[in-house]
Amino acid sequence: MRIVLVGPPGAGKGTQAHVLAKTLSIPHISTGDLFRANISQSTPLGLEAKGYMDKGQLVPDEVTIGMAKDRLLQPDTAQGFLLDGFPRNLAQAKALDEHLAAEGITLDGVLDLEVPEDEVVKRIAGRRLCRNNGAHVYHVDYNPPAVAGVCDECGGELYQRSDDTEDAVRTRLEVYHTETEPIIEYYAQQNLVTTISALGKVDEVTQRAVDALQARAAG
Ligand code: AMP
Repeated sequence: MRIVLVGPPGAGKGTQAHVLAKTLSIPHISTGDLFRANISQSTPLGLEAKGYMDKGQLVPDEVTIGMAKDRLLQPDTAQGFLLDGFPRNLAQAKALDEHLAAEGITLDGVLDLEVPEDEVVKRIAGRRLCRNNGAHVYHVDYNPPAVAGVCDECGGELYQRSDDTEDAVRTRLEVYHTETEPIIEYYAQQNLVTTISALGKVDEVTQRAVDALQARAAG
């Protein structure tokens, strides 16, 4: 399946994408994780992206679209992919459509994770990521690791993202409303969107997501 995951910061996109991608045996492609990997390796792309990310702003489209397309051309995407955090505005959504059309493929669905804004703030404040693999995501209260500060999956050190500050989160929420929400309407016009509640335990949300994707696959 070829799926796009959308939802505000803190909706649990990364957490759900990680589990869903494993369940569906397709790669989890997160542009945020790709940027963070570039930052930790101090690549020119990472250095360019960091300033925007720390402020909660979008990294410019010319950089982001090129990086996403390169990733989508990797052979592991042949059976499908789960996009997390891309596209994030209409220009990116249109660029993705053009890229897929050129490859002769289409999206199967867009999963929209819905969560109230006060919940988003709580989730982001307690979020911790693994240094080895940004897809290993925890929350100090809602989804704690067995040993504080240590990743259950790989033993990596957990850390707090530098853009999970109050100011950056406020900007990210604004950017979500103005830039990203319009893509939900864009995909709704193509009958691709299923909205699910992202409230509740991680595995409850995963079950809702799996049910929604199965319903879509069954047509
Ligand atoms: P995320 O990990 O998805 O929350 O993304 C973290 C940050 O990376 C965002 O706040 C942006 O600064 C940047 N970023 C990730 N994906 C994109 C994208 N598709 N377009 C522009 N910036 C992005």
